[in-house]
This record gives sequence, structure tokens and C-alpha cells, in this order.
Amino acid sequence: MTKSTDPFKAIANIVSDKNIITNDDQTPYLTEWRQRWPGKAAMIITPENTAQLSQIVKLCAAHKIPVTPQGGNTGLVGGQIPSGPELLVSMKKMRTIHEISPLDNCMIVDAGLTLLEAQEAAKEQNRLFPLSIGSEGSCQIGGILSTNAGGVNVLRYGNSRDLVLGLEAVLPNGEIWNGIKKLRKDNTGYDLKQLFIGGEGTLGIITKAALKLYPVPVQTQTIMAACPHPQAVIELLSLMQSGSGGQISSFEFMERLCIDLVLRHVPNSRDPFSDRFPVYALIELSAGDGDDLESTAQTLLASAMEKGLIADAVIAANDTQRKELWHLRHTISGSLNGEGIGVRNDVSVPTSVIPQFLAQGEQAVKKISPDARIAAFGHVGDGNVHYDIIPAQGAPKNALDDIRDDLENAVYDVIDRFDGSISAEHGIGTHKRTSMALRKSPTEMSLMRAIKKAIDPDGIMNPGKML
Ligand code: FAD
Repeated sequence: MTKSTDPFKAIANIVSDKNIITNDDQTPYLTEWRQRWPGKAAMIITPENTAQLSQIVKLCAAHKIPVTPQGGNTGLVGGQIPSGPELLVSMKKMRTIHEISPLDNCMIVDAGLTLLEAQEAAKEQNRLFPLSIGSEGSCQIGGILSTNAGGVNVLRYGNSRDLVLGLEAVLPNGEIWNGIKKLRKDNTGYDLKQLFIGGEGTLGIITKAALKLYPVPVQTQTIMAACPHPQAVIELLSLMQSGSGGQISSFEFMERLCIDLVLRHVPNSRDPFSDRFPVYALIELSAGDGDDLESTAQTLLASAMEKGLIADAVIAANDTQRKELWHLRHTISGSLNGEGIGVRNDVSVPTSVIPQFLAQGEQAVKKISPDARIAAFGHVGDGNVHYDIIPAQGAPKNALDDIRDDLENAVYDVIDRFDGSISAEHGIGTHKRTSMALRKSPTEMSLMRAIKKAIDPDGIMNPGKML
């Protein structure tokens, strides 16, 4: 291949017409969930395998064509959206399940498989792939790993980062790095896969992953508890964790406004309580055979009620009720869209200071916009709060547009007081680049830049994102 050949024609020859997205079909690839970062690309392709992708990236490297990897396009910080003469690589056609080994508690899958498909494939072999997030029907294995996605089971199983045994990736020079391993112990030098996990596609394209599997819990108890205030939720978490001997797999919280918005915007949703309460916890306990999980749950709830930590509680009596409770939680994010364009924050602080963060966050927001509403919910067991600010009821949809930066910075300032993180789950992408750079030390920033330079010296891999 000479450099004078039109590189995009050469790419077209490698992938063939059926794997090139043209005209109006490009719109879904260039529009993200919140429609905040409109995209632009020189070409959009859907390669079919690693060898093909490697050839394409080699061409891009030779011609210094920027490459944006895209998974299910559910990312919330604009990382998957190109903004110039870039090659957008959608991984949607790389979806082979290579191996599921119940004895090794491991599965090896292509990066374009959706999270839901991976969960279902594991289940067919009586194993659990525990990562679970609201976008699981669309997001892909490559996307969740590149963003180190968290979700509702982090408390017991960890983030995506903790669920990976090995990776394969196409590097920015087109070389294939085969780091697929099924080992749980391997102390042979730097753990390179961890650079790509949470790397947001800035160091290469993940093409395959070896993922950890777990036994499927035999029993589950799902509880929704109504609490008098946020401090009670934190104490309830501690009581249930120690009282159950670590059987809590999820512990989510949501303020009353979140329930109101789901009831308003989601057809057939139902408040499980007849009264209104300030905050709620959605709790799941899971265990194997032998334990009497139901009586553990009952005993813990009775103790929590005696201590004044809960005012009321419902326990799902069957799978339908369990799904209804989870549906309430999973539809909060979508319901917020119905209330106008919000300022969505995904932050974390040490769990013990969540109540103080909520109180100080509210003060800071109200100082800027007294009428704005705050819908806080999230993975409280991980100290992770989705702290969403939405326009006053009845206000124009874009009422917060002019003060978006002020509100965001005010929340981040409160986060700084608690030594928290301005991005607990969603990553940096385009959105939080400046805010991240302001908060990391010069040493951290120069280490990150040195890693980027070593692996991607020409900066072709997802430029303008993260760094
Ligand atoms: P994309 O959005 O396509 O890409 C995300 C980033 O990864 C981009 O930087 C992209 O360049 C890069 N990338 C994608 N694929 C690859 C690859 N193969 N190799 C290298 N880089 C790649 N996130 C959570 O953590 N927890 C939640 O609970 C959660 N809930 C959500 C609920 C909803 C309704 C929505 C819309 C989003 C939610 N998210 C959540 C955010 C989002 O779903 C996750 O960030 C998800 O991991 C992104 O996966 P994706 O395949 O859609 O990746």
C-alpha cells in the first residue's frame, strides 16, 4: 500500500460495501443518548473480525487517520462520538462467543457481543456474568470494559475491571495484542489489560475478552425499604451488610422525586407503598442453598425498624414483583429526560459522607438556581450518586442551559471537599476532560500522557477524548 492511494478507498476494499454505513443510516452512530454531542465522521465501518480490523488500523496509522471505536453507543460522556474527519469503527458485527468453560468459571467472547447476550449465554451454562446496568440490552462487552462500567452488582462482584481475566486488542499501529488468558493468578509484570479497561478507546480497540463467571445464586430476596432520611439509608446498609454476613449483592437508593417521575413518565409503573417517604433503598440479598435467606431478611428488617432506620418495607413475593421493583430503579434515568434537559452528574464520595454531600450539594445548587429540582439516586453501596439537576416543574425544557457549567462546577466543588470523584462510572469522554485535568495532580496527568504517547505516539486513537 503506497501513501498516495486514497486510504478510505483502501479501507472500503478491506471491509466490502456491506460493512460500510452510508447516508441516513449513519445518524444513529453519530447521535448519542442525550443528544449533546452531535457527531461527524469521514467514514463508518462495521468490521467482521480482528484480522480485518488490524489491517484497517494499520492503514489508518500509515495515513494518520483518527479512529473512534464505538460499541453500543450508550456512553454518557460523548467518548464514542467522532467530531471530524475520523474513521468510526462500530464493533457490532464482532459478536462470536468463543468459549464458555464452567470448570474455569470463564467465558471468552468478542467485544461486540451485547452485555445482555453475554449474561444469557453464561446463564445457559448455569453460570452468572454479574455485571448489570440499565443499558445492558444495547451496550457491548468492549464498551463496558472501555468505560469500566459499574452498575448494580458492584457491591459484591466489583466493577468491569474486576471481571476480566484477559483481553485481545488492536493497537494504534494495527498490531494485534493477544492477552487472552484464563488465569486468576499471573504476576508476570505489568497488568497491561488494565490500561485498556477504562481507557475509553484511547489506547486501542478491544476485540475479545476472557470474562470471569460466578455460580448463579440459588435464592434471592429483593426488598424495597422506605427510610426517613439519607443517614438512615447509610446505617441500614451497614446493618444489613454485617447482619447478613456479606449476602447483600445490590443496595441502591432513590429520593422521592425519582419515584414521582417514574410514576409520571413510565406507563404501568406502580408505587409499592401507600404513603410517601423521603428516600428509599432497593436491596437484594442472594445466597446458595442451605441459608434461610427469607428469615435473614425478615430479622434484619425488624431490627432496622426498631432502630428507626426504616419506616416501611416490601419484600418481593415472586419474580414478577422483583422485576417490578427493579423496573422502578432502572427507569429513573429515562424518566428524567421527560422533565427537560438536565445537568446529569455521576459522582462518588466515601459512602459514610453521602448524607453530607447531598445536603451541601443542594445548598450549592439552590444558590445558583433556587427553583431547580434535584433527583439523586444511585449505587449507594459504592458511594456512587447519580446527582441529576432538572428544571423546575413547568419550566422550559432548556431552562438550565445557560447555567449548566455553573451548576456542574458547583457540584464538583462539593465533591472536592469530600475527596470524591467527578466521574464514578461514566468516564471522561469529551464531557469531563477539562474538569478531570483540573483535578488530577501534574504527576498523574504526566503519567497518563506518557502512557498515551508510548502506545499511541501519533495520537490517532479516539483523539480529543479523556486526555
Ligand atoms: P459506547 O457508548 O459505544 O462507547 C463508550 C466508550 O468506550 C467510548 O469512549 C468508546 O470509544 C469506547 N469503546 C466502545 N467499544 C470499544 C472497544 N471495543 N474498544 C475500545 N474502546 C471502545 N454505566 C455504568 O457504568 N453503570 C450504569 O449503571 C449505567 N447505566 C446506564 C443506563 C442507561 C439507560 C444508559 C443509556 C447508560 C448507562 N451507563 C451506565 C453508561 C453506558 O451504558 C456505559 O458506559 C457502557 O459501558 C457503554 O457501553 P457501549 O458499548 O454503549 O459503549
